[in-house]
Order: sequence, then structure tokens, then C-alpha cells
Amino acid sequence: MNTTLCASFLVLSSLGLAAAQQIPDKFYFEEGKIRVLILSGRNNHDWRSTTPHLRRILDATGKFDVRVTEEPAGLTAETLRPYDVLVADYCGPRWGAQAEAAVEAFVRSGKGLAVVHAASYPFGIRNVLGEKMSNTGVTEKPWAAWAEMVGASWREADEKKGIPKTGHGRRHSYDVKWKDPSHPIAAGLPASFTTSDELYFSFVLSPKIHVLATAFNAKNEGGSGADEPLIWTNQFGKGRVFQTALGHDVHAMLAQGFIDSFARGVEWSARSTVTLPALISIDPKTKDALRVLLVTGGHDHEASLYGVFEHMPDIRVTVDPHPAAFRRDLRKVFDVIVFYDMLPEMPEVQQKRLRDFAESGKGIVVLHHAIANHQNWEWWWKDLVGGKYLLKDEPSLSMKMSTYKHDVDLRIEPSGKHPILKGLSSAWMRDETYKGMWRAPGTEVLLTTKHETSDEALAWVSPYAMSKVVFIQLGHGREAHENPWYRRLVRNAILWSSGRQP
Ligand SMILES: [Zn+2]
Ligand SMILES: [Zn+2]
Repeated sequence: MNTTLCASFLVLSSLGLAAAQQIPDKFYFEEGKIRVLILSGRNNHDWRSTTPHLRRILDATGKFDVRVTEEPAGLTAETLRPYDVLVADYCGPRWGAQAEAAVEAFVRSGKGLAVVHAASYPFGIRNVLGEKMSNTGVTEKPWAAWAEMVGASWREADEKKGIPKTGHGRRHSYDVKWKDPSHPIAAGLPASFTTSDELYFSFVLSPKIHVLATAFNAKNEGGSGADEPLIWTNQFGKGRVFQTALGHDVHAMLAQGFIDSFARGVEWSARSTVTLPALISIDPKTKDALRVLLVTGGHDHEASLYGVFEHMPDIRVTVDPHPAAFRRDLRKVFDVIVFYDMLPEMPEVQQKRLRDFAESGKGIVVLHHAIANHQNWEWWWKDLVGGKYLLKDEPSLSMKMSTYKHDVDLRIEPSGKHPILKGLSSAWMRDETYKGMWRAPGTEVLLTTKHETSDEALAWVSPYAMSKVVFIQLGHGREAHENPWYRRLVRNAILWSSGRQP
């Protein structure tokens, strides 16, 4: 039995493999984008944070389809074939003959290579000019072609000539100046930019490199007292190489000049032209992005809440806690208010601003504990939200105090075909439940559960006529905030309440 199963599995796998090899690359890559492979996985720097950041910069431009390998030693000519450019965020042992030959042939054939910070220094110390190095302490035989691609190598100190070992002084803030502002990578950028980074000096430089930017390396910061080349390009065979000595860590990589020069450098090394703008944003928003006010305060919550609103180019969220959030007329500044606060009472002037906002037809989304807001303000719970979590027994409603329970594993069913439910199937979530809430007649229920610790209705659209108001009971903690299903639900509710289609 086992033998038969194994045998048929083998047959299936080899068929699968054969089929996979016939599928064109376009099914695996986003059409029209520059294909980038980041080489990472070892570094004397924190590659676990820098590599995702480099990827984020490239992703944010919308121009690149980015992949990462943490085991570059496994590269072959075939695995590299679909890519346009390699980004080296690597400093570590050599990759072996097959991977190194593949990378060398890749660049030489006319593709791109971008080298970041310490990636100019892996694979043992060697000299780009071909001079023999001594006492490097590195037993590995150097990979000469890497230095040739980078256009530079690191060196030991030469005391007779007074040349220091390649390195850097104290990390400090300094200005990087473009030396060739007409080069496609620099064109249109400000003449200089400020960063806080290490400032490398004493490279052995190939005479073939084209220096794009330098910085003055002050002696009182432990530097060389000279202008040091930091960003350059190089030619290797038909390939283009972009090298930046900047980028010690994410802090340094957040400098606007780093973001611009890196993204444009990667584009240039892939395509030899640059179409990316100056001042690239790593959190780009569309021109007509919805302006959303997230009101917090009065109840503790996990920081994971803010993640709910990330990676939404068409939604720009401003967080402002109550009561300060209502210090001004909100109609001019926001399209939607999302409530994630808990406030027993609010002065009349602030009540009026909230009411003006609702009566102007703007969107309102009430999340989780915000259903307990304004217990004594009937307009809020009876008219606007169409529901109330009762913080005490309410004989006038013939109702007892509502109850809650943490860490409940809930099964959730969508109800009806409301646009807010677009893309949302039945779901499972660990969250806090509420039971015994008052709910207005005429609410349109969006989600239900049968859990005994919860009211049946988990989300609804209020019957309030002057604006679109949505209540979502879910969303106590991380388990909800990080759940893509929950993020989609909140996003759909925001878009719909503003009048846009989810
Ligand atoms: Zn460093
Ligand atoms: Zn809660």
C-alpha cells in the first residue's frame, strides 16, 4: 500500500515539475514590473530588519516585483534567469562556485546589481586593483569578481604610506552631496541630503567607477578629514552596478536621500533609465485618499489597532484622542470618523461638532467599546449608532447591565448581501464578546454568531438617515486587529460609510 502510494506520488511530482517548467514567467511575476531579487540571510548588520525595509522601499514605488533569498548559496543560472536586478544586502561567507558563477554571468550579461553598505565587504578581503593583501585574518580565498563588480574593495592599513584600514568613524549626522547631478539617478533630486549613518573611508577604488555622491568625513568624528565617495556606479561586462555605502541600519535607511537614491539606483541598474520621482514615500497615498479621523481614548487598547489601517493607499488615517478630537469643525477636514474610544460625557460644544459632522452626511464607523460611549446622550446611542452597551441596569429600557467575555473563539456568519460584506465569507475569530446590548429597531444586521456569551448581532448598519453609520462589535485585541478578515471588514465599512464602493 505504502509503496504504491509513494510510487504514484513520485510520478505526480515529476509530472508537476515538468508542467511547472513550461509555465511562462509572467504567471509568477507582476506584469510590467522590474523583477528584483534581494540577496540576504547573513550579515554583520541586522539583515532581519534591513532586508524587509529595502523591500518596503521598492514595493512602495509600485515599479518592482521583489523577492528575497536568504540562501544565496543555492542560486543557479536558472533561478536567476527571470530577474532584472539583484540587490545585495549580504555580508558573509562565499556562496560556492555554482552560485558565484551564476551571479557573475547574470551581471555580465547586461543585468543589474545594487550593492548596499556592508555588501561591498563580503567574501574575504581582497584588492580590486589586484594587489596582494596581507594579514587580513580572513582565511577564505577572496572572490575577485565581486570586488570587480562593486568597483571597490576594503584594505588593511598601510602604515608606511599612512593609509588607514577601510572603515568608519563614529556614526554621526552629515550631508551627502551629489557630484554628478545630471546622472539619471541624481537628476531632479535636491543637491544634497542629510543622514545619520556610518561614513566609510579608505576604500580601494577601481578607476572605472563613476562617483555620484560624496560626503565630507570630519576628523573630529573619527573620520578621514576628506571628501569620501559613498555612492557610485560601475560597469561589469554589459551589466550596470549601483553601489551605496550608506544604510547601516533602518534608521539610516529612512533618510529621504537614502530612499530616493536606493530605489532610483535599483531602477537604473535594471533599466539604465530612471522614471521614479524624487521624494519617494514609503507609505504612498492616492491623491483622493479618504481622510479618516480615528478617535481613541478613555479605554486602553493594544497598539496592534493601528495596523488595521496600514497598507491602504486610498485611506489616510489621523489619530486624535477625545475630547481634543472635537476641538474644531471636523466637516472640512475629514470624510469619515472611526470611533474606538470610550467616553461617558462630552461638553455641549463638542457634542455639537460631532452632530454637525453626522448631519452633513459624512461616514461614521463605531468599533467595539465605542458602543459604550455617551451613556446619557440619547442622540448618540438611540439615533446615531442604533445600539448601546449598558454599563448599568436600565429600568427605563427594562434591561439589565450588558456583559462581556474575553478570549472567546467565535464562529461568525455574514448575513445578507450588503456591500460591506464584499469578499467576506464566514469566519472564525478569537475576540471579546458582548451580551445584552440594546439595539434599535430598523438596524440592518451584517454579521451574526450563535455563541452563548454573545448577542446574535455582531455588526449592523444604523437606521440613522442623515449619514451612513456602521457598528462593528468585534476588535478588542491583536487576534482581531491582525486578522486580514477583520481588516477587510473595517476597510469595507469605512469605504461604504463615505459613499465609496468597497
Ligand atoms: Zn555598518
Ligand atoms: Zn474590549
